[in-house]
Amino acid sequence: MNLILLGGPGAGKGTQAKKLIDKYQVPQISTGDILRAAVKEGTEMGKKAKEYMDAGKLVPDEVVIGIIKDRLAQPDCKKGFILDGFPRTVPQAEALDKVLVGLKTGIDHVVSIDVDEEALVVRLTGRRTCKNAACGQMFHIKFTPSKKEGVCDKCGGELYQRDDDNEATVRNRLKTYNDATAPLIG
Ligand code: ADP
Ligand code: ZN
Repeated sequence: MNLILLGGPGAGKGTQAKKLIDKYQVPQISTGDILRAAVKEGTEMGKKAKEYMDAGKLVPDEVVIGIIKDRLAQPDCKKGFILDGFPRTVPQAEALDKVLVGLKTGIDHVVSIDVDEEALVVRLTGRRTCKNAACGQMFHIKFTPSKKEGVCDKCGGELYQRDDDNEATVRNRLKTYNDATAPLIG
């Protein structure tokens, strides 16, 4: 169960990964989540990454490759892992190959989730996430609103909008996906 989930921003990689980790008891590795945690902690890496993330651009390859290399070497990845949001460029995919050879393993499947672009814009700009990191439940103001506005149904935590889920940044993220990540499918 070594999987890669590919797909544009808002395609549902994180949502599907959450279902798979419950079913198969393997870790979800989301470079976006790891980077957001670094931003929140205010680490050097987080400070640098935030500029790229807020602009809808990719964080430099060497940064995310370093993150993945450390994460995949941890013992909980031995029984499998689900990569969500990595690789996102051809050099990242090539670096991943090398890391996996070093760990004497490989990728079993890649699932590409293909969603219409305008649907992605509506999904992302209406997305709200629970601030409680242990929960992280997601809502949509139109499709799956919480019972009480701004409050998580699951844990009572505060709901927030990701800094990069505004329309201008979403458009840039889509362009970045089409330019740098979609070619990976080939
Ligand atoms: P989404 O897939 O919805 O855009 P993510 O949480 O996967 O959201 O990523 C958020 C941001 O984090 C990206 O726009 C990018 O700036 C950065 N990021 C995440 N993963 C990578 C990666 N593999 N390579 C470069 N940047 C990344
Ligand atoms: Zn919650």
